[in-house]
Amino acid sequence: MRGRIWLSILIGLACVWAVAGAGDLREYEPDPNAERAAVPDGYKWDLAPLYPSAEAWEAARLEILREAPSLARFEGKLSDPAELGDCLRLYFRLHREASHVAMYANLRQNVARADDAASRRVQQALGAMDELMRRAAFIRRETAALPAGALENSFAAEPGLAEYRNYLANLRRRSNRILSPDAERALALLGDNLWAEIDLNEIPSPLEDAFNGLMADMTWPVVRDQRGREVRLSMAGLSVLRRAPEREVRREAYEAYFGMLRRYQHVLGATLGGQVRLDAAYARARGYDSSLEAYLDRDNVPVAVYDNLVGTVNRNLGLLHRYVELRRKVLGLPDVRVSDLYVPLAAEVEESVPFTGARSTLLAALKPLGPEYGAVLAEGLDPASGWLDLYPHRGKQSGAFTFSVYGPHPFVLMNYMNSLDDLSTLAHEYGHALHSHFAMKSRAYPDFRYVSMIAEIASTCNESLLADHLLAGADSPARRAYLLAERLETIRTTIFRQTLFAEFERDIHRMWEAGTPLTPALLDETYRGLIARYYGPGFTLGRDDGMEWAGVPHFYYKYYVWSYATGLSSGIAIADRIRAGGEPAAEAYLEMLRGGGSAPPLELLKRAGVDLTRPDAIEAAMSVFERALDEAEKLLVGQGRRAGRKSDAGGTFGPGRS
Ligand SMILES: [Zn+2]
Repeated sequence: MRGRIWLSILIGLACVWAVAGAGDLREYEPDPNAERAAVPDGYKWDLAPLYPSAEAWEAARLEILREAPSLARFEGKLSDPAELGDCLRLYFRLHREASHVAMYANLRQNVARADDAASRRVQQALGAMDELMRRAAFIRRETAALPAGALENSFAAEPGLAEYRNYLANLRRRSNRILSPDAERALALLGDNLWAEIDLNEIPSPLEDAFNGLMADMTWPVVRDQRGREVRLSMAGLSVLRRAPEREVRREAYEAYFGMLRRYQHVLGATLGGQVRLDAAYARARGYDSSLEAYLDRDNVPVAVYDNLVGTVNRNLGLLHRYVELRRKVLGLPDVRVSDLYVPLAAEVEESVPFTGARSTLLAALKPLGPEYGAVLAEGLDPASGWLDLYPHRGKQSGAFTFSVYGPHPFVLMNYMNSLDDLSTLAHEYGHALHSHFAMKSRAYPDFRYVSMIAEIASTCNESLLADHLLAGADSPARRAYLLAERLETIRTTIFRQTLFAEFERDIHRMWEAGTPLTPALLDETYRGLIARYYGPGFTLGRDDGMEWAGVPHFYYKYYVWSYATGLSSGIAIADRIRAGGEPAAEAYLEMLRGGGSAPPLELLKRAGVDLTRPDAIEAAMSVFERALDEAEKLLVGQGRRAGRKSDAGGTFGPGRS
């Protein structure tokens, strides 16, 4: 699915590969600079279930382009039950094929970023999907216009239509948002995202492309690293430098970074302002009161969920203020600044986690999810299954992602370097992978796709169960301190920080919608106000801290950040329920996973025992944060900080996995 940009740099990792792999796998020591050919085939994913070759892929793509125009023969005839059935069968057959074509192109490109042929295939695949969407636009228009009685008669007359009941209900849910054919055509030409039928994804807007282009073109300033050497700053470099034990190094890096954003504030402000205008235009064109309502309605999520998140987190900001104070004490600082937020509070426990060990730890940690879950997990973690592309190499996409299309198994991309962080990432990604697996096995294609609000729950529930498992087995104070510090940072960056982002995103859209021009000064002031409120009285604001908005990619990619915060909160709440309730709670959770996209997301989540219109799940996460704070305060205060950690997960740009 659509992921965040992974900006961590793996440096100086002393990796020991001491355990032989399963079956015929030979020992392998991970090396980010190795060629792909040097990684044993057993550790790479198997794309054959999609297409056996690039030639077969090309044939499938051409076949979609050839067949898509034949949808036109159903135009004007969808009130006839048999025609409606035939039309939807053809549309979903082509949609499924187009999603396979897109997936194959994506997966090939993800392990060969510099390969022109791979990039071209991605563009060609998007073109095929675009063509199909354009040819199918009349389906939405005509089915939404059918009188309810006529549609019920169609279901009675054509039993094969039952498979499409949820799909049609979801289209018709927004039937009052559909405009005249001419207006729809005009909106589609402008890249209207409110109706994009792409898996958990959006069509990038030109503004998002402009932001990425600008960030790639900037010449970053030179700063000093820990050893006093001059290094050119980059976004990836910042995520390393901000972890330096030397305060001056961290501060210089942040000042240079914000200063750079300040220098480009007008073009960045115009870009973000342009995105906000576009969002408001899409929403207004379809008669929504706000762009927030329009974007959430796309996934059938009420605005109350968003407001509940922001309200509940705000009521718990006292905990974040306590965490800032803990940082100040542990780091021995007179005050805490933005450049002090990422330096580790506890030394990383020296531990190498080779993949075979990670597998057995994960199987043990996720045992509370029951034997069925365990069996699928064991299968998916077996390199022979072809799910996994485990090790980094030159030209591979950084970070970690799970890709799922209906039919074949899920595909998991990792850059596994044998660290504890990597183990946690593996737990996260297999949450996504098993979610897709269960949804696929239980649902027909039209009901399979789940929305972003649901997507980040399965991943974070696994992370939470793993964290509990590791903490339960951690007897030495050093290991406990490290794990607790990790848990605090995960909740700070995923719940508090993403909710801060969500408030900013909501507020600037509101301002524009109320007629206030979004100047760089207003964006700066709005962001500063949020940081001051979130981090509290013990936090010292720097001159340019308010510029941080300019470098957050998700602001140019609208209304996604909130789902990280609700995802982790729900994941923690569900993990709590399973720990307390045992098998019935686990089974209820699997029911949610099996549901795919077959019901409104709030309803699916209620099956697992969580109601996101109420504060409970977010409060559960806040309690976990508070308990970790209590223990960390006892363990860490007075000890001082020891050596920094080796690699980075999460940070300015958010957790680097999806
Ligand atoms: Zn994820």
